[in-house]
Amino acid sequence: MKTREFFKKKQVLSFEVFPPKRTAGIETIYTTLDGLKGLNPDFISVTYGAGGSENFGATLEIAASIKRDYGIEGVAHLPCLCLDQQEVSDFLRRCSELGIENLLALRGDRNPSYEPKGVFQHASDLVTFIKSQGDFNVIGACYPEGHSESQNMVEDIQNLKRKVDAGADELITQLFFDNRYFYEFQERCALAGINVPIEAGIMPVVNAKQILRMVSLCGSSLPPKFSKMIQRYEDQPEALRDAGIAYAVDQITDLVTQGVDGIHLYTMNNPYVAQKICQAVASLFQTKEGDHENAL
Ligand code: FAD
Repeated sequence: MKTREFFKKKQVLSFEVFPPKRTAGIETIYTTLDGLKGLNPDFISVTYGAGGSENFGATLEIAASIKRDYGIEGVAHLPCLCLDQQEVSDFLRRCSELGIENLLALRGDRNPSYEPKGVFQHASDLVTFIKSQGDFNVIGACYPEGHSESQNMVEDIQNLKRKVDAGADELITQLFFDNRYFYEFQERCALAGINVPIEAGIMPVVNAKQILRMVSLCGSSLPPKFSKMIQRYEDQPEALRDAGIAYAVDQITDLVTQGVDGIHLYTMNNPYVAQKICQAVASLFQTKEGDHENAL
């Protein structure tokens, strides 16, 4: 099923997982998926490390298993900077063979260890190419606080419009910790004529170092309330985890109440945290028909 269909019926809940590091062994992901299954996500997306086609395998294998073994739609991420058309075609062919209909089309971050192929400059080029190759549902990334390489918000939103015009069916945001950025972003999208569903990407804090590293990579800003929480509990892992769960629940409650199209939880392969959050917010998600019925 194409994930865009879910948005017609309900507020969507989706998860993101990443393939385990080589030292951990691929099978560890199945413990994570076992823990996420009962939370009834509409889909689970699987990241793809920067670099070339040697990284295909794990992402595709996990996305296929999510669909085949867990009965949940699987989405494969595909960053294109270091791929050529033949490699993307091979990826799409494998997707078709494995029954993966949904892709998150990305440019990818520049990484000094990997040479860009110079074929796909922007994610919009990849979206156009995928749409020319078959009947795939294509998701795009977006940035409530603007992408770090953009000169300004106007340029960023114009580029996002190009991606949607190229065929992106829905969008997932970069993580953010202040919902006001998301609401302002929604308004900019509406003004620019970007009318596809936008899922809010929420990352619960479980580890101070990890979140500060993520934030330095993606440029999301930290509200004072959030920084205070990290400072206070950085040496108390359990307290920080619980405070991080409470913070994410607060963000999601507000977003769902305001009618967000969907929540995409960056699970960091941590089912315990996802379970706690879902227990707290599951009853809030609404169907489109009645608005009274729980959607999860
Ligand atoms: P683009 O849409 O190409 O945008 C990148 C920059 O180029 C922006 O500044 C944009 O304004 C500009 N731009 C876009 N189009 C044009 C144009 N036509 N002309 C001029 N400028 C343009 N990375 C991974 O490597 N693997 C993953 O699995 C992964 N998953 C992600 C999941 C989500 C939900 C998100 C939000 C990000 C993810 N990323 C992942 C990170 C992503 O690859 C980076 O943020 C990357 O820097 C930009 O990717 P993009 O697809 O948004 O690029």
